[in-house]
Amino acid sequence: MKEGIKDTLVFDMKDLRHEDFKAYEVLVPPASLGLNYEEVEFNNALSCAVRLLRQGDDNVYVTAAIETKILVECGRCIIPFEVDISTTLELLFSVSRKSPEESEADERYFDGETLDISEDVRQLLVLEIPAWPLCSETCEGLCPECGAELNISACSCEPTDEAPASPSNPFSVLSKMLEKS
Ligand SMILES: [Zn+2]
Ligand SMILES: [Zn+2]
Repeated sequence: MKEGIKDTLVFDMKDLRHEDFKAYEVLVPPASLGLNYEEVEFNNALSCAVRLLRQGDDNVYVTAAIETKILVECGRCIIPFEVDISTTLELLFSVSRKSPEESEADERYFDGETLDISEDVRQLLVLEIPAWPLCSETCEGLCPECGAELNISACSCEPTDEAPASPSNPFSVLSKMLEKS
């Protein structure tokens, strides 16, 4: 049974009875999940294929396959480029709350009527943001002296002995600190 395309990750469980299964296609505007960041742009809708399976009155198994494209800045040349994100979520929602020792990390609770996976999807996507994105493994970055885009053309600065790391690379800062100590 397939519903029309939804635009929210909140599901009404009143229509999903015992042992029922439903598949939803959801196109979520990223701003509705609070995905606003300076260093990464979520400027495409999140395409989510969500499946809900109800077992008994109390348990709902949820799987969601989420795809989108994000715009990130290259860590070397600072030119924005697109990254494909494709990830999946599997959760069990229960009505009755277990004691903390019994419950598992991927278990959630709901009131039996509405099931909301927005926050889980938001957290999952934040984890998918690359920490040190590179437009290409061979990106030459910017010249630390004159700022020339070395992918486009070489500059006439004298090459230095130091590793050609970007000034903001935390590892180059760390190795300088180690040299001093
Ligand atoms: Zn680059
Ligand atoms: Zn230069």
